[in-house]
Amino acid sequence: MGQNPKIPCPQCGCQTFKVSAKPNRLDDLDGAVCERCNRRLSKHDIDSWLKRQVQDVVSKAFKNLR
Ligand SMILES: [Zn+2]
Repeated sequence: MGQNPKIPCPQCGCQTFKVSAKPNRLDDLDGAVCERCNRRLSKHDIDSWLKRQVQDVVSKAFKNLR
């Protein structure tokens, strides 16, 4: 809580987005525009990024088990 979601731009990796309101949840970043390359974040971008984070955590956990 209290932390802004950090999602990198799928195009340039920049984490600064132009949003109308201060984002509190990842869903708030739907439609946000990258400050560097003006790429628009879609719900699909956010979902696929989230999936990658989960896969990262799971594969690291499995590595530690070995
Ligand atoms: Zn960008």
